[in-house]
Amino acid sequence: MYYDSDADLGVLAGKTIAIIGYGSQGHAQAQNLRDSGLDVVVAQRPGGPNHALAVSHGFQPLSVEEAVKRADVVNILLPDELQADVYRTSIRPHLKPGAVLMASHGFNFHFGQVEPPPGHDILLVAPKGPGHLVRSEYVKGGGVPCLIALGPGASPETKKIGLAYAKGIGGTRGGVIETTIAEETETDLFGEQAVLCGGVSELIKAGYDTLVEAGYQPEMAYFECLHEMKLIVDLFYQGGLEYMRYSVSNTAEYGDYTRGKRIITEETRREMKKILEEIRSGQFARDWILENRGGAAMFKATRRREREHPIGETGRRLRRMMKWIDSKEV
Ligand code: NDP
Ligand code: MG
Repeated sequence: MYYDSDADLGVLAGKTIAIIGYGSQGHAQAQNLRDSGLDVVVAQRPGGPNHALAVSHGFQPLSVEEAVKRADVVNILLPDELQADVYRTSIRPHLKPGAVLMASHGFNFHFGQVEPPPGHDILLVAPKGPGHLVRSEYVKGGGVPCLIALGPGASPETKKIGLAYAKGIGGTRGGVIETTIAEETETDLFGEQAVLCGGVSELIKAGYDTLVEAGYQPEMAYFECLHEMKLIVDLFYQGGLEYMRYSVSNTAEYGDYTRGKRIITEETRREMKKILEEIRSGQFARDWILENRGGAAMFKATRRREREHPIGETGRRLRRMMKWIDSKEV
């Protein structure tokens, strides 16, 4: 693990960092770097709320081309599926000699969608948390832990830049782990597909449907299967599975040990291995890239259909009554 004392912000003194995209990660990283005393320019297309946000934070957003021309370090913080096109048209032709190319997720580097010409190193500094937390933890004096990885053949100087960058966004306050671009990309995709997003969403919906189909009130099903998820996850976060098991009743703990394995079965574990294999072979990346080339029709239709699941309506109604939870509507 690398901490504050392992990183020297001076490595970035006199260098300009371009943050491409003022979204979730962009707005957080740009502000943290600036507050750490570094020279930051922001590229953000005009017309949307993120442009107005950048202006309200005191930046003067540039075009991608203009920001890249000025920068010694270029961090692409656009949605992963757009990075390759923007890279080809607006970044690669304007890179300053020796400029370091960065991202917060390795997808496009690892799957060959963003390949800089010789003389440009690739560097990943990936915060292990959403952008709003990268900002709010930094403001509180803390920081979200980060991963750092170098592209093939990157120089030792680029690693120093990476550690300085991580320090600038607050990452070395939380701790920085060195990894490879392959490991970051593959574990990140696996985590979100099998556990964090795909796995948990399906588990919640299956539990909710089971209770409602058996005639229980949807409100009860919502509280049991979705709302309480956070309370349990908070216990995992603070003290691991053992703290959750210590904190819940013995009855809940007995139910956990005797019933959990009937939900995540050998078949589920086999399927997890298949999902990992599809990530490692590049099949998932090909699917996602092709989906976007075709206008992402299936993706958008699925997003619409998923919103129509009855748990959505039940939840919206209940969350409106829970003033204390800082509820959000999409
Ligand atoms: P967001 O979706 O929050 O931000 C996207 C940015 O790209 C916005 O500034 C947006 O501007 C701009 N943008 C979107 N579409 C276009 C377009 N067609 N042309 C030009 N600009 C466009 O992205 P994230 O911050 O979520 O993700 C950025 C990177 O960070 C990704 O590589 C992601 O994997 C990685 N990452 C994200 C994490 C997260 O918590 N979100 C966590 C760790 C890594 P506009 O507002 O105008 O649309
Ligand atoms: Mg992740």
